[in-house]
Amino acid sequence: MEQRYPFTLPPLPYAYDALEPELDEKVLHFHHDKHFAAYVDALNQLLERAPAYQSWSLWKLCLDWRELPDDLRQGVRNNAGGVFNHDLYFRTLHPLPVSAPDAALEGAVARDFGGMMKLKEAMRQAALGQFGSGWAWLTVDRDGRLAVQKTPNQDTPLPLSPLLCCDVWEHAYYLQYQNRRADYFEAWWRLVDWPLVSQLYADCMACRPPRPLS
Ligand code: MN
Repeated sequence: MEQRYPFTLPPLPYAYDALEPELDEKVLHFHHDKHFAAYVDALNQLLERAPAYQSWSLWKLCLDWRELPDDLRQGVRNNAGGVFNHDLYFRTLHPLPVSAPDAALEGAVARDFGGMMKLKEAMRQAALGQFGSGWAWLTVDRDGRLAVQKTPNQDTPLPLSPLLCCDVWEHAYYLQYQNRRADYFEAWWRLVDWPLVSQLYADCMACRPPRPLS
């Protein structure tokens, strides 16, 4: 996607019904075309009246929002985060069947979590344990260590490099799963595009310190 103002909504990288039955067409339509689009539009509107910051990359807006003037700071925090997070979210899902992590990522998962099932359990606890709206993340630091964390609202895990994220805002699942966040998490996990996540990990390992992933 575009790295700088004006930002554009990247197209959904698969058909709207391609993730059924795990995520249905209605969920993807509203989530991508309405919610994700609203963050893109809101970020552009904020920056339209702030030309001094139009050269900032999406990565920098998410990392350095604290440096912005009062009338921009919270809006950019929320909306640049919303753009960054949703871009990764939709890119790291894939229609079934999906294949496993590559050997490098699988080895790192074994080293840092004790295996894929333990990574899943850590992500599940982060996703279900996030009170209210937010995200669960798999991240990698400058030394290549993996970690799981959660963030509220549209906060990103930067400067840790995100490899994978589970959106646990109700808009990500309520139309299909209502209050059953745990069922949504199980469905989301089945759709993770492990070859892409493996590529993101390889990119981080090849280019440290972390660089933008999108
Ligand atoms: Mn969302």
